[in-house]
Amino acid sequence: MKLAARVSRITPSPTLAMTATAKAMAAQGIDVVDFSSGEPDFDTPEPVKAAAEAAIRAGFTKYTPSSGIDELRQAIIDKLQTELGLRYEKPQILVSCGAKHSLYNLAEALLEAGDEIIIPTPYWVSYADQALLNDATPVLLPTREDQGYAINPDELQRLVTPRTKAIIVNSPCNPTGATYDRRTLEGIAEIAVKHKILIISDEIYEKVLYDGARHLSIATLSPEVAAQTVIINGVSKAYAMTGWRIGYAAGPKDLLTAMANIQSQSTSNPCSISQKAAVAALRVGNPFTVKMVEEFDRRRKVMVERLNGIPGISCRLPGGAFYAFPNIRGVLGRRGPGGVLDSPTALANHLLKDAHVAVVPGEPFGSAEHIRLSYATSMEAIIKGLDRIATAVGKLTP
Ligand code: PMP
Ligand code: GLU
Repeated sequence: MKLAARVSRITPSPTLAMTATAKAMAAQGIDVVDFSSGEPDFDTPEPVKAAAEAAIRAGFTKYTPSSGIDELRQAIIDKLQTELGLRYEKPQILVSCGAKHSLYNLAEALLEAGDEIIIPTPYWVSYADQALLNDATPVLLPTREDQGYAINPDELQRLVTPRTKAIIVNSPCNPTGATYDRRTLEGIAEIAVKHKILIISDEIYEKVLYDGARHLSIATLSPEVAAQTVIINGVSKAYAMTGWRIGYAAGPKDLLTAMANIQSQSTSNPCSISQKAAVAALRVGNPFTVKMVEEFDRRRKVMVERLNGIPGISCRLPGGAFYAFPNIRGVLGRRGPGGVLDSPTALANHLLKDAHVAVVPGEPFGSAEHIRLSYATSMEAIIKGLDRIATAVGKLTP
């Protein structure tokens, strides 16, 4: 069958693919330690489940307004007002089937052939492929590990062309865990405002921050910046609700209306029951998040310390999200039973096959010298998995 050309530009999500492989191995009875999954291992909070049960019992099981129920859109408006001090009207809020879907609606509403979207690297895997699916060109802005992955405004400025439509800001960042400080955000905002570039602020990890850090949204810098920013967020990460599929976008009315129209002609409303659950999460879920993040913090320190104890591997302490992103340059070039490990993918494959540990290689995030490990898994798994990695790496020959 002759498929649309756009399909040939993309691959399946590599993070989801690695998780599926790990799950398939586990189903065969193999004892796999899975560091690939980008989802909290915590159960969804009880009040959230209770709200979903109540919705089912009350027969709240029919189509809802395509853009989301009023109650949830209001909960989102209230959250943005109390936490960020930003005011939105209902037409500026769109609830979708996960933040990934929010981003996809946005890409479809915004991008066309010849358009460019600036993506700081390392970046979350789906940004580039969603641009490619919509005929646009991802323009990668390299950032450096030794500078904490901060964006250099001069380098950003050099990438701006008349075709630049948007820039992605993902703080805290998946996969690096980096967070942007006020100066960095101001540097980005200044360029975006000057050139009328839309800022896409993916804040899905806003509540997963460590060492007392507070989330800073670029949209709060000034009303002018807010008018040019779309905030993307959702309940997946903060409330351990990845399977419920609720994300949302908040931004300029004309753009959000276009996104809502696309949604009404494609998926219609996100799941009615999940929407009720999301209202509960936003209204009463924050104490749960605080406890979960305290536990992630303990795991973060153990994982990073253990990684740094492996010769050839070095790892920064991430300031947010729940991923370690170790540099494996010192291991590349060593030899395993299957040959020379010359790339993150080769190392990830080796770890999966030989040590039964699933990690995501750096290439789909835009890095040729890192791998990504999620520490949103039990301490026991972290200790076991890191023991296995240390042994497997120790056995490699120079
Ligand atoms: N943005 C980032 C940076 C992510 O890591 C994820 C997780 N897959 C998403 C968006 C999408 O999250 P979801 O679709 O589960 O809401
Ligand atoms: N955000 C998660 C990750 O990066 C989930 C998988 C995905 O949607 O890509 O692993």
